Amino acid sequence: MAKNVTQNGWTVINGLDLDSSPVPSTSIIPVPGLRKGDVAKVLLEVGRQFNATVAPLYNPGCWGYAPAIPIPGSTILSNHGSGTAIDFNAPSFPWKKRTMTDAQRQACRQIVENLSPVVAWGGDWTTVDEMHFEIRGNADEVKQVANKIIGVTMPTDKQIDETISTLHQDAYGKSPSDAVFDDWRKVLKNNYVEGNISILKGIDNDPNALKNKSVSGAVYEEVTVYRKVK
Ligand SMILES: [Zn+2]
Repeated sequence: MAKNVTQNGWTVINGLDLDSSPVPSTSIIPVPGLRKGDVAKVLLEVGRQFNATVAPLYNPGCWGYAPAIPIPGSTILSNHGSGTAIDFNAPSFPWKKRTMTDAQRQACRQIVENLSPVVAWGGDWTTVDEMHFEIRGNADEVKQVANKIIGVTMPTDKQIDETISTLHQDAYGKSPSDAVFDDWRKVLKNNYVEGNISILKGIDNDPNALKNKSVSGAVYEEVTVYRKVK
């Protein structure tokens, strides 16, 4: 592999011209920043989803670009050297250790799936790296995924609860139980963090989409179906 590219094939950059935006919905900058353009857009979206579904982000401990050095134990350059890798909450999720819960690990895999096929996560690697996500694929592939990200802002818990009350009242003619509330919160938050469409607005326009469905898994299914036909 050429000396001026990192493991994923992206060229080494010098770190003087980075996108140093914070992760959306947070004030956390993956210091010092990320490769400008579609790469930054995708990795910042990874951060937004990580913050919402894995663990709240904090600094110091969130990193982006780093001067190109070989991956320990090899001659291949780390993807941080091309500004195409990002680390989250390093003190909590240190290299070579498994410190995430099963739910957190599952949420990381979900992020990879949401942004498929251009993001990889280090938590399932032989040399485990739970804090680490990176870009896979070429510029065209990354652009295709970046173009799908519309960057919705996570609504507040109060907005979510008000919406659930309204939707449930419309669909079932009564207020939801606490268990239903919990279930719907999960569904709505998950759909928000997917970052594809404003699902709250979508359901709001068609409360019948949820009618006659048992809650739990069926709601998620219904929302998924709804999003497809929308
Ligand atoms: Zn890393």
